[in-house]
Amino acid sequence: MFTRNLRSQLVVSFLALILFTLIALGSYILWFFYRHNIASLDAAMLNQAKIIEELIYRDMSGPIQKGQIDEKIKELSSRIDLRVTIIDTTGIVIADSQQNPALMENHIDRPEVAQALIGNNGYSVRASTTLDKSLLYVSTPIFYNNEITGVVRVAMPLDHVDEGYYKIFSALLVASCLTFLVAIGFSLALAYRYTRPLETIINSANKIAQGELGERIFIKTGDELEILAHSLNNLTSSLEDKVTDITAQNHKLELILQNMGDAVILLDRFGKVTTVNKMAINIFGITGNMVGQHNIQVIGNSLLDQAVQDTLRLKESRIIDLKTNVYGKKRVFQVFLAPIIGGDQAGILTVFHDITTLQEIHDRQASFVSNASHELATPLTAIKGFAETLLDGALAQPELGEKFVRIIYDESERMHRLIQDLLQLARLDAQEYREQIQLSPVNIAAILTAAKQDMSPRWQQKHLIIDLDYPTVEIYAQSHPDWLKQVIVNLLENAIKYTPEQGKITLACWPENNELKIAVKDSGIGIPGKDLPLIFDRFYRVDKARTRTAGGSGLGLAIVKFIVEVLGGRIEVQSKVDVGTTFIITLPLPKER
Ligand code: ADP
Repeated sequence: MFTRNLRSQLVVSFLALILFTLIALGSYILWFFYRHNIASLDAAMLNQAKIIEELIYRDMSGPIQKGQIDEKIKELSSRIDLRVTIIDTTGIVIADSQQNPALMENHIDRPEVAQALIGNNGYSVRASTTLDKSLLYVSTPIFYNNEITGVVRVAMPLDHVDEGYYKIFSALLVASCLTFLVAIGFSLALAYRYTRPLETIINSANKIAQGELGERIFIKTGDELEILAHSLNNLTSSLEDKVTDITAQNHKLELILQNMGDAVILLDRFGKVTTVNKMAINIFGITGNMVGQHNIQVIGNSLLDQAVQDTLRLKESRIIDLKTNVYGKKRVFQVFLAPIIGGDQAGILTVFHDITTLQEIHDRQASFVSNASHELATPLTAIKGFAETLLDGALAQPELGEKFVRIIYDESERMHRLIQDLLQLARLDAQEYREQIQLSPVNIAAILTAAKQDMSPRWQQKHLIIDLDYPTVEIYAQSHPDWLKQVIVNLLENAIKYTPEQGKITLACWPENNELKIAVKDSGIGIPGKDLPLIFDRFYRVDKARTRTAGGSGLGLAIVKFIVEVLGGRIEVQSKVDVGTTFIITLPLPKER
């Protein structure tokens, strides 16, 4: 469109210039030719008129002489091929070479006559009323005794001047037409020569603008257009390099964003979600149609929205702790909010760092410390109380003194056990310690027999029956003999503690589904269903008063579960109040067997 316009503009301007030049030049030549011819004729005719004046001026001296002039003139004009007219000072025609002067009108108002009557040479070009053609009239005054006595006028038709004029006009017209035709062709070629490379440049520039950065312009004009094409090629090359850099950079950022361990959500300046990474999709279950929705609809937390608005308003980064419900579970996030400044692109970057586990560990640690302090404080208070009583005089009564000292001993024994349990838990908690534990095939029947043997004073004292139930073939588990024995002893100790006298306890083991099962089953008081999920928690007791008198710290089952998991197994419990409890441990079989 543009080049077509430019091309037609160039052609039209060029042709207009040529046409104007041709017309101006032609007109000047015609005018010059005409003027030159008239001037030459004028000079020649003036000479003739002067000669005639010289011949007849004496005849103007009186009326008798004037009467002979007409005849003289007619004779003279037959030799000079000019029309000659003699006019007196009043404008009356005295003689005429071609007409009868008596029939001719007064000539006083003819411009050339009027000029001559005031002493000048006069001339005029006009159509003759008598001959009906274009004539050149030249006149000169007739002097007699220094007085103007009349006018000699010679006239000549301008036929041959006009003829020459029209010939030149025709020749000029033909030449101009030919020149104009050549000019049309020339201007088209010229316009095409300049607009063709421009067209190429425009086409390429359009392609580049549409993102085809591999496009290059090849033109060889040797002028500024070639330089322009070269500059455009350089510009495109550097643009291509920049775009490649930016694409690589974007790809890197995209990879980082998508593979980050934290959820990243970009919000626009209205708080609407614009971009999310994989982690955000997984954590918050963001679907495609949620992109574009407001953060309240997507995350569902007004605290976050408030922080988003504050960040936008103050244009300052901030970190908030966000407790929210995701799929019905409480999650805690540390959210980093940073403003993205940039007009329409303004928005907020939010990074959600999941600290739920950290928070849970922190909470558990706090509750552990509080529980441990409480557990230690109880026997310590008793010890302190009885020691004070002894100091206050109870020592003087030996019976009472011994009783109090025994209580002090029992309570310190309890504290000792508690501290032992706490130390064991601390040891198990240490990663390095757990990594040192070497697993090997352990004969399970031997472990169960040894545990029963070790605890014999306790169960015999309560008149309990302990059954051992294992296959006749030796069965092994991939485990650690000391730790496994401690697990069995702890469970057996609980079974003895919570089973009334005459009760029955069974220690069994059997292989099942490529694993090994160990059961510690008692016919004791059982555990209520609501407590079952909590009994492996640290310091958890079903009945605090009862178990404390039974000497329990509430750490036994926590240690058991911890050890079983360190040994690569798992533990379950089944129980019914007043019927009995069964703990089932599942352990891996040795690989080589
Ligand atoms: P404790 O040292 O107090 O026995 P444990 O962690 O070993 O602590 O046990 C936690 C709680 O589980 C006990 O307080 C007790 O109420 C309950 N419990 C454990 N084993 C049995 C069992 N065999 N029969 C009934 N209750 C049990």
